[in-house]
Amino acid sequence: AEMFGQLTSGLEAAWNKLKGEEVLTKENIVEPMRDIRRALLEADVSLPVVRRFIQSVSEQAVGVGLIRGVRPDQQLVKIVNEELVKLMGGDVSELVFAKSGPTVILLAGLQGVGKTTVCAKLAYYLKKQGKSSMLVAGDVYRPAAIDQLVILGQQVDVPVYAAGTDVKPSEIARQGLEEAIKNNIDVVIVDTAGRLQIDKAMMDELKEVKRALNPTEVLLVVDAMTGQEAAALVTTFNVEIGITGAILTKLDGDSRGGAALSVKEVSGKPIKLVGRGERMEDLEPFYPDRMAGRILG
Ligand code: GDP
Repeated sequence: AEMFGQLTSGLEAAWNKLKGEEVLTKENIVEPMRDIRRALLEADVSLPVVRRFIQSVSEQAVGVGLIRGVRPDQQLVKIVNEELVKLMGGDVSELVFAKSGPTVILLAGLQGVGKTTVCAKLAYYLKKQGKSSMLVAGDVYRPAAIDQLVILGQQVDVPVYAAGTDVKPSEIARQGLEEAIKNNIDVVIVDTAGRLQIDKAMMDELKEVKRALNPTEVLLVVDAMTGQEAAALVTTFNVEIGITGAILTKLDGDSRGGAALSVKEVSGKPIKLVGRGERMEDLEPFYPDRMAGRILG
């Protein structure tokens, strides 16, 4: 299924109810607003986000009055489009780079969300921008994760710093950073252990790694398939360790869109990048305006 497919057709139902109307009124937007609300909830957008969205769109819709040459349904599409862009953070949120020395990007996330893949994708993405990077294998609990990072590093031709499973992640991170400084690497990307669920040990370890590195970016990798739960995760990680943004993965899957639409509004943190597949080139910036365009079909 095309992502947002259901949301797009749900919204279409709203515009269709305005065919033949001359102007948007308090009365004739009731049904369309109900459709929009339903479509957003079915896309798994967080309820408080839906409420605020509906209120804002309704207020604007009854305020626009008659605009010559513009049909009411087109007016509503325009308002919804602008609100969707705003909801997703407005402008694109670029990665931030350190003014001097290597930029450190710490990646966190639950197991299976695509964190290890993102490490290599990000290195590849930066390479295309002319930046060198190094991956640091900080997931010391799963030897397979270290092996996977090494293999992916080879695939994108980027060095990987690993020190086995007996060294503390914060120590590996420190060593990796030193190595990167020695080699004049532009960006150090640190992989960390993911668990199936949030637990205290995970958070404590992340805090320690963060203290050891003073990273420029702390990005939480979240799976788009988790819907509005993604927004709750970003909020929790932000409160616990302080993050600078999120990377949304698996946008190529049949996620309904709730994650993309809820993260910024719920957590206050922007989605900076999105993953759209398993290939190394499948990572790109998150463009709220393009995303809104896709939603509106
Ligand atoms: P980690 O446990 O968070 O490190 O997750 P991995 O990087 O090992 O990824 C878990 C699985 O998800 C792997 O099979 C990846 O190929 C797959 N994966 C990661 N990102 C994406 C994505 O954007 N789209 C799709 N379809 N699969 C992805």
